[in-house]
Amino acid sequence: QQLVSLRNVSKRFANGTLALQGMTLDCGEHDFISFLGPSGCGKSTALRLIAGLTRISSGEVRWSKTAAASSGIDRELGFVFQEPTLMPWARVFDNVWLPLKLAGVGRDAAEPVVSQALEMVGLSRFANVYPRELSGGMKMRVSIARALVTRPRLLLMDEPFAALDEMTRIKLNNDLLAIWREHRFSIIFVTHSVYESVYLSNRIVVMAPRPGRVIEEIRIDEPYPRG
Ligand code: ADP
Ligand code: ADP
Repeated sequence: QQLVSLRNVSKRFANGTLALQGMTLDCGEHDFISFLGPSGCGKSTALRLIAGLTRISSGEVRWSKTAAASSGIDRELGFVFQEPTLMPWARVFDNVWLPLKLAGVGRDAAEPVVSQALEMVGLSRFANVYPRELSGGMKMRVSIARALVTRPRLLLMDEPFAALDEMTRIKLNNDLLAIWREHRFSIIFVTHSVYESVYLSNRIVVMAPRPGRVIEEIRIDEPYPRG
C-alpha cells in the first residue's frame, strides 16, 4: 500500500531553472526515506511538490485513496522546516495546539492530544513557557510535536537539524527514530548528511544537481545497528 507516488515528476521554475527532472518514487506505510544530495539537487523542491506547496510542471503526484479521503490531504501531512517557525507570542501548548485549533478543535478537547504530542518529544514540563525560553533543539522538538499533533500518516522534514550543534543533533536523531518506530507513520527527510541518511532511513534517494534528479535509490534492508 503506497501513501503517495510520484511518476516522472519535473519542475521548471519561471526563470527557466530545471530544479527537478523526471522523479519517480513510491512512499509506502512506515517508510523512512531520505533525500540525500548536495545543495541545489532539488531535495527541497521535491519535498515541496509532495506537500503541494509548489506546483509540478509535468508528471503526476498521486495520493492513495484512503489517505486523500479520510480527512483531507492537509491533515495527512506534517511539515517540519529547518527553522522551527514558532509563534513567539504564544506558549508552547498554544503553538502545538494551532493545527487542531485551525481544524476547529477547542482548547479543552485538544488538551490530551497536545499533552501526548509534547510527551512524545520529551517536553511535557514545558507546555507553559514561551519559545524564547527554549534552546534551538527544544524549539525543533516543539515544531515536531506541532507537525505530529494531527497524527499525519506522512511527515516531511526539510533539513530539520542542520542548524543545530552536533550533540543536539545526535539526540534528536535518536529521539526521532524512537518516535517513528513507536508510531508507525512515514517520514521523508531531506539532508545533505550521509551520516544522517544512513543512520535514520531505510531508503536513501541519492540526488544530483543541474538538473536536479535522482541518480540512485539505496534500500537498507538490514538496518544499521541503531540506538
Ligand atoms: P536549501 O539548500 O536549504 O534548500 P536554498 O538556498 O537552495 O536553500 O533555497 C532557499 C529557498 O530560496 C528555496 O526554498 C527556494 O524557494 C528559494 N530559491 C533558491 N534558489 C532560488 C533561485 N535561483 N531563484 C529564486 N528563488 C530561489
Ligand atoms: P536543494 O534543496 O537540494 O538545495 P532546491 O530544491 O532548493 O535544492 O533547488 C534546486 C534548484 O532549483 C537550485 O538550482 C535552486 O537554485 C533552484 N530553485 C529553487 N527554488 C527556486 C525558485 N523559486 N525559483 C527559481 N529557482 C529555484
